[in-house]
Amino acid sequence: MEETRLHLFNTLTRQVEEFRPFDEAGKTVGMYCCGPTVYDFGHIGNFRTFVFADLVRRYLEFRGFKVNHVMNITDVEDKIIRRVRETGKSLKEFTAGYTDVFLQDLKELNCLVPEEKNLPRATEHIPQIIDLIEKLVARGIAYRATDGSVYFSIEKYRGCGCRYGQLVNLNFEAMRVGERVASDEYDKESVADFALWKARVPDDGDVFWPSPWGEGRPGWHIECSAMSMALLGPSFDLHLGGEDLTFPHHEDEIAQSEGAGVQPAGRPFVKHWLHGAHLLVEGKKMSKSLGNYFTVRDLLAKGFTGREIRCLLLSASYRETFNFTLAGLEGARAQLARIDECVGKLRELAGSTVASASPSVPALVTGFTAAMDSDLNVSAAWAVVFDWVRDTNRSLAANELTPALATAALAAWERLDTVLGLGAKPTGEAPADIVALANERVAAKKAKDFARADAIRAELKAKGWVVEDTAKGPKLKKI
Ligand code: AMP
Ligand code: ZN
Repeated sequence: MEETRLHLFNTLTRQVEEFRPFDEAGKTVGMYCCGPTVYDFGHIGNFRTFVFADLVRRYLEFRGFKVNHVMNITDVEDKIIRRVRETGKSLKEFTAGYTDVFLQDLKELNCLVPEEKNLPRATEHIPQIIDLIEKLVARGIAYRATDGSVYFSIEKYRGCGCRYGQLVNLNFEAMRVGERVASDEYDKESVADFALWKARVPDDGDVFWPSPWGEGRPGWHIECSAMSMALLGPSFDLHLGGEDLTFPHHEDEIAQSEGAGVQPAGRPFVKHWLHGAHLLVEGKKMSKSLGNYFTVRDLLAKGFTGREIRCLLLSASYRETFNFTLAGLEGARAQLARIDECVGKLRELAGSTVASASPSVPALVTGFTAAMDSDLNVSAAWAVVFDWVRDTNRSLAANELTPALATAALAAWERLDTVLGLGAKPTGEAPADIVALANERVAAKKAKDFARADAIRAELKAKGWVVEDTAKGPKLKKI
């Protein structure tokens, strides 16, 4: 097979192009992913985007790049302040709790978490944020309003020959240029000067910092510009987020960062922008009132595993809207079982045989690489995986594999799994709630309440466990 190179869709150029980092050696990649706003548990839509970012990182590493992965934690913005006010907690206490939960959920989904120094908190970068705003003020692109807030002037920015509307097409004729938006979130129709620094108001409570413009707090967009440039430099390779962040968040990030004029001549703030499409649940936008809103925890409580959730979230191309369903999760469970069965048999056959170095790259790896090189075409990549499972099962059934061949096949699978991150089949220790149900079933049987015992068996099954009655008592097995 002809060797391919990694190609990705770039929102900036609106085309699929070869991914090449700035690094002259073509090796090191600076990658920034907008992290969570820690005001609540993340929902599975958020995690679709974070699993996508993880896939990008893992695939770049698979392709031999050294990835400097940064993900911020947005720990001060409008929604957080509202919730802090409602709960009466301190900002730090409130956001630390949700940050911990978020990092645990990421681990549950087997996402590679950036090292601590690459998980910047906005509240720990106030000096860098102020410094960046000062640069914009000094260049005449930002101005102080009478209330002490500082705004980004789109007119002045454009007047400097810079382009506002790099990621989206904007119709300036129809726009009300000059008006201001104070809130962090707004739509394309209301493009206007946006807040970089928000003057302190009573509702902010004790969430404020001193600044050259008076007490206040940063706007959301400037946080990401300041943190990404602080950690990756003023011009870096790759920036990711969900598609909803394209405008205004990422457009504003470009404006703030390029407006400050800190990039080396001719270099953009970011070379390559990647946006993940959204996730819907049963065809609808997730909302608490529709009852179709799931956190990772909700799904774990239903008996699904992080591995199954990850497998499902990785099943569709990142540029396609993904329709999440519970039936889809059952499907992911079945897919994993097929893989586990095949890999399990290979392991049995391979035993302790050591792989001999082979000069040729296995077809599984070349097929997978070709698919993923084509804008991370996971559908094609899964097809390669399941063709391999089918062919391997056939060869196993026909006794055509030697332990050495099985060892080589396992090595190829493990190489792929550095990207898929599915890991080995779990050993099957049942969690406490499942054990409790099994005990309740024993009690029901003792009490001769067989209807209840059967109902519990069905409930266990729905949660992914079968219970077998053995001489030593009931044994739980993962389906
Ligand atoms: P937030 O915590 O709201 O800042 O969002 C964190 C990430 O989740 C961002 O990259 C969003 O673009 C992304 N996101 C939000 N909703 C969805 C969704 N329904 N599907 C996929 N990604 C989403
Ligand atoms: Zn951001």
